[in-house]
Formats: sequence, structure tokens, C-alpha cells
Amino acid sequence: MIKTVAVVGAGTMGNGIAHVFAQASFKTVLIDVNPEQLERAQATIAQNIARQMAKGLLTETEKTNLLNCLSTTTSLMQGVAQADLVVEAATENETIKLDIFKQMDAAAPLHAILATNTSSISITKIAAATKRAGQVIGMHFMNPVPVMKLVEVINGYNTSQATTATVVATCEQLQKTPCIVNDYPGFVANRILMPMINEAIGALHEGVANVQAIDTVMKLGMAHPMGPLQLADFIGLDVCLAILRVLHQGFGNAKYAPCVLLSNMVAAGKLGVKTGEGFYTYQSGTKISGISSQFAATIHSHSL
Ligand code: NAD
Repeated sequence: MIKTVAVVGAGTMGNGIAHVFAQASFKTVLIDVNPEQLERAQATIAQNIARQMAKGLLTETEKTNLLNCLSTTTSLMQGVAQADLVVEAATENETIKLDIFKQMDAAAPLHAILATNTSSISITKIAAATKRAGQVIGMHFMNPVPVMKLVEVINGYNTSQATTATVVATCEQLQKTPCIVNDYPGFVANRILMPMINEAIGALHEGVANVQAIDTVMKLGMAHPMGPLQLADFIGLDVCLAILRVLHQGFGNAKYAPCVLLSNMVAAGKLGVKTGEGFYTYQSGTKISGISSQFAATIHSHSL
């Protein structure tokens, strides 16, 4: 029975994951090595609460309950010490995650389930860094977490049926829809999504069309709520690059090789919404002036 939850990493995903657990009355501790990230996460949660209240999705009493259920700390050891479930949502980097899982395995109660929100890194490999592989599982929330219904639940090679059943029941308590999948690179969501985003970046790079045209084709033509380039900005270009590298390496297939434009943008620190610029420009998370100046004139005349 899950009552206390620790969320490790307070970035784009961690604040949303902590939000939905606290909203469902789980005692929730949000942990980050960076105290500024914790402050930013609390501000984002406050903004999202205000949005939910304006839409009539949250009452004043529910808001008070949510905030009472939520606390923050920079200490991983303290944060996970009472947890029945830990959801790790730290940076998409294998070395960082393996290290965090070793620390969590040492500090969390023996009965605790250790879940990862990784978009692509092997659950089986992460589990092997612990002494409780049966209790390690993927819980892949979608962005923005308070809005999106899906949780991809990923069984590692050794994940026990009891762990899967508990996590599925917990997702349902969060009013989310769990989908159980197996542990292969990119699982299902990113195995399909990332090649599409990479192809859109490739089309931009080759001058097939400009940013707006590519996104409009996919929005109006395929009924996607957001074009692939804007979605990449929203996910974080560093996260997209990291996932493509995992797919490329995991399958050993050149079709997953990240577009050089994506690698260049990440190297230049243009990571999308979180840095204020990617394919578009943003202020406080909101798209402000359309296409980034870098791409405003990027189109060969023959394609117009
Ligand atoms: P992010 O870069 O926004 O945030 C990562 C956070 O982890 C940062 O605040 C960083 O300070 C913190 N961190 C790093 N090392 C840490 C440590 N040792 N202990 C505690 N905190 C630490 O990343 P994000 O976009 O929120 O992604 C987090 C995870 O969620 C990744 O595994 C990513 O693949 C996955 N994910 C991302 C999205 C998305 O749309 N961004 C969607 C689904 C899943």
C-alpha cells in the first residue's frame, strides 16, 4: 500500500509528478540537488494550481490539501527514507541515474518500490544497480503531467508481478491510465515519437520547409495538437537528443541517428522552453515571438 512518495528531480517532469501525487493525497517529498530548481518547481506548481482552479478542476480545500501533502528537500537520503514509492525524474543521463538508484537502494525502506520516469534508458540496467531488481519499474509520465492521462508502465526483465500490480493501482489512484509495456529502447512512446521529431528537424535542416510550415503540416494535416518542432522545444532538445542516442545505440540502426542540427542546438544551449529558445522563443514558458531568429530566414527559395 503506497502512502508516502518521494520524487527525485524537480525539473520539467518532477514538479508535475509531485503535483499529481500530492493532489491525490499521497504524502509527497520533492527532492533536487539544486535548491533553485526546488524554488522554480514550487512556483510552477503554484501556477498550475491556479490554472486548475480557474478551470474549476480544483477547489480551495483541495488546494490546501495538496500543499499540505507536499514538501521539498535537497537531501536524497532524507527524502527517500520514509518512502513506499520513489519516482526518479532526474536528468536523462545513464551515469546519473545509476548513481541515484544505488543511493536510493541504500536509503529507501526495504519494501519500497523504486520507479524511474526515464524516457529511454533500460529499466533492466537501472534495476541491476540495486539489490531489489524485482521492485524496480518504469513509470513514464507524459508532459505536462497534471494534464496528460497516460503513464507508460515499463516492466524490466526482473520486475515482479506484485510491483507491476502496485504501480498500476497507484496510477489509477492518480486518475491516470497505465499502459504496460516491455523494456526495449524507447519503450513504445519514444520509439515512435522521437524518429518523427528527428525527421522534422532533418526536413528543416535540409530546407524542405521552414519551422512554421513543418509544424502546420503536422497540426492541420495529421490532427496533432502541437507540431513536432514545438513539441521538441516543449520536451527539451537535450532530452530528445539523449533519447535518440539511446535508440541509435540500443538498436544499432542508423535510422535513429540524431540530426546534426539537433546536436548543434544542444551544444549551443538552445534547449527549447526551459532555456527560452529552441525552434521558437519563449518567456516564462510561453511562446512569445514565433520562430527563433536563427530559423526565421531558413528556407531555400525553391521550396516556397
Ligand atoms: P530536467 O532537466 O528539466 O530536470 C532534471 C532535474 O534533475 C534537474 O532539476 C536537476 O537538478 C535534477 N537532478 C540532476 N541530478 C540529480 C540528483 N543526483 N539528485 C536529484 N536531482 C537531480 O529534466 P526533465 O525533462 O524533467 O526529465 C526528467 C526525466 O523525465 C528524464 O529521465 C526524462 O527523460 C524524463 N521525461 C521527460 C519528459 C519531458 O517532456 N521533458 C517526458 C517524459 C519523461
